Amino acid sequence: MLSARHLLLHCLFLLFSLSALAATRVDELADPRAQQGSHVANPDGLLSGAAVSQIDGLLKQLEAETGTQVAVVAVQSVADGDVFGFAQGLFERWGIGRKGHDDGALILLALEQRTVRIHTGYGLEGVLPDAVCKRITSELMLPALRAGRYDEGMLAGVQAVLQQLRSGGSGMLPLQAGNFSEASGARTTSRASAQVLDAWSVLRWVFAGCLLFATLFWQMFRSTGKREETSERGGGFLGCMQRLPWHLHAAVFTGLPLLFLLLLDILRPPGLFWLALGGIYGFYLLAAVLRAIALRQELARMFQRRRYVALAELLETQRVFWGGMAFIFPVPMAVHFFTLDRLARHYRWAPRACLHCKQPGMRCLSEEEEDAFLGKTQQLEESLHSVDHDVWLCPACGKYSSIAYPQRNSKYSRCPDCKAMARLLLGDEVVEAATTSSSGRGTRFYQCKACNKRRRESYAIARIQESSSSSSSSSSSSSSSSSSWGGGSSGGGGSSSSW
Ligand SMILES: [Zn+2]
Ligand SMILES: [Zn+2]
Repeated sequence: MLSARHLLLHCLFLLFSLSALAATRVDELADPRAQQGSHVANPDGLLSGAAVSQIDGLLKQLEAETGTQVAVVAVQSVADGDVFGFAQGLFERWGIGRKGHDDGALILLALEQRTVRIHTGYGLEGVLPDAVCKRITSELMLPALRAGRYDEGMLAGVQAVLQQLRSGGSGMLPLQAGNFSEASGARTTSRASAQVLDAWSVLRWVFAGCLLFATLFWQMFRSTGKREETSERGGGFLGCMQRLPWHLHAAVFTGLPLLFLLLLDILRPPGLFWLALGGIYGFYLLAAVLRAIALRQELARMFQRRRYVALAELLETQRVFWGGMAFIFPVPMAVHFFTLDRLARHYRWAPRACLHCKQPGMRCLSEEEEDAFLGKTQQLEESLHSVDHDVWLCPACGKYSSIAYPQRNSKYSRCPDCKAMARLLLGDEVVEAATTSSSGRGTRFYQCKACNKRRRESYAIARIQESSSSSSSSSSSSSSSSSSWGGGSSGGGGSSSSW
């Protein structure tokens, strides 16, 4: 059912709908000052060459005049969507600003995060307070950035920062009375909102990962299910759902939620996380409730059409699924799950009509009576308590039908040779123990009580996982921490604006 091509297409579909773009990590970004003496890092080419050299010229002039170092960085995306963390990390790594003075600033554009941030060193917090950074980013930079004019937006920000620095904090951008009160709280609010956005960017991936996993799991589950039963199942919503091709299924149950996530990501409404969680949870809950209703209707329809065997099988195969649903959606799916048992008992003993003469009034035979109608294997299964066979006899035409009810807690499994539920596990031994470097192998011995055939089946034992080692933590020590910048540090001052 599920070919490798389908799986691949599926993964691609998910990846594209996530608009997954390679994000830059702090240690991946080359220091432009060390490489070509520039103040501007533009690794993804978001800014034009002309804008880069113009900005660099302005910043070089500033440094020559005042010693203040300002770096401009424009990247497509920052790792984990954490703009604040990226800015702080870069500041620490490069050491922007003179040592002791800590008079550095970083203007960072993270396009995919739709955020521009001015990050200031300790020494600039007086001249370039957070409230001013906020105004520069939101009022002077955002309009152009939002419109896709990155050169213009970044240049406007750089010029405003320069003017502010040159005026010693009292020039171009006088703070109005209202903004002073904002200044004290700005640091905390900007950081709080940064944290909300950071949490969201992580959660977005968690959501998407869960959806991907659920879909792949669902596909595997479907592909291993018994497809021949589908023909037994009637029309209706449930039958329709089960006959739905996999890509339609994926479009509805993965595509729609992903689209919803994407929409939230664009709109960024307040209460983003709870909206996403509630929306997705609600969507699947609604789908589960509709399916539960459909299942009950389908069962009633099957009973009416005298598909007693198929009905019993359907109830049996649906158990695992609804157990999972009851676990994920305790309210109200647990009720449905526990009433399924009652429903199964109801349908098992419900008076029924004959399949042959269509007369009502069939009689369910007692354990003693039914032996005469059961085959040898069926009688054996009865005595092993692995399967319960019901025999219904029609008093009108004398024909009978039997229905099998496999017992859930039986120690017998189905024999691959004679298909009887009479295979017993005799032994299980480890041939080769698993180590941390290789997987192991084991053998299980079975014997069938019906056909007496013995079988040995080998199985793999998973490799023992080492506790997280330091193998992958070789930090890139190539570019030294004592960079060409001055060695200044930042306490996380500054402000971001997002669009
Ligand atoms: Zn009959
Ligand atoms: Zn057998």
